[in-house]
Amino acid sequence: MAKLRIQQVPCLKDNYAYLLHCTQTGATAALDPSEAEPVLEAAAAQGWRISHVLNTHHHWDHVGGNGGIKSATGARVVGPEPDRERIPEIDETVAEGRPFRLGHAEAEIFFIPGHTRGHMAFWFPESRALFCGDTLFTLGCGRLFEGTPQQMWASLLKLRALPDDAQVHCGHEYTESNARFALAIDPDNAALKRRAEQVKAARAEGRPTVPAGMAEERATNPFLRADDPRLAAAVGMAGAPPVQVFAEIRRRKDNF
Ligand code: ZN
Ligand code: FE
Repeated sequence: MAKLRIQQVPCLKDNYAYLLHCTQTGATAALDPSEAEPVLEAAAAQGWRISHVLNTHHHWDHVGGNGGIKSATGARVVGPEPDRERIPEIDETVAEGRPFRLGHAEAEIFFIPGHTRGHMAFWFPESRALFCGDTLFTLGCGRLFEGTPQQMWASLLKLRALPDDAQVHCGHEYTESNARFALAIDPDNAALKRRAEQVKAARAEGRPTVPAGMAEERATNPFLRADDPRLAAAVGMAGAPPVQVFAEIRRRKDNF
């Protein structure tokens, strides 16, 4: 097992791609490259040769760079098994229960449908690094384009079970607007208020707020707290099943 070096690569307006580099073997993955150019440049600046492209789901702002990176480097494109028909240039699939290896670093794969029906997450335990695309966002979660609240809540519970120090690398810099929504429905959460201030300050200086630790997400992300009686009460649903509370919070966010 090996630790990865991880580099965040801002793409488009608010997307994050990531470079994952195994120092023992040189294997390097470009994860969710919305565009090829900035990712190729970032790899060149590090002296890393991209050997793999990893996709969490099929949306264009996560796979748009697949073709460009593959033609420039010959990288193998790896994506979710259910999305094999709709991920450009795919060579190899991942599925839950089947570990994926990048050089000497091993990832556990989580099937996390809800945002899309094929969405997967990559969890590299040795590096404490979770790559969860558009399912779990820092202080938020993805829209339900192809799944039910039931599916999304089950997916978020899988991710929430990861260790406190798991670092949540998500697909977008949405934390500041997510914080405004979270505060609107959970105004008395002291940890959330503190975090919202930090996020605001970071963004004012142009610093990223991603990744963030799982312990902090569990304490402040309303979408991970649908089974917390205090949050259910805050949205007027005391005693309701968590999945219904989750669906209500997601509905409110869609209309926020
Ligand atoms: Zn998406
Ligand atoms: Fe996206």
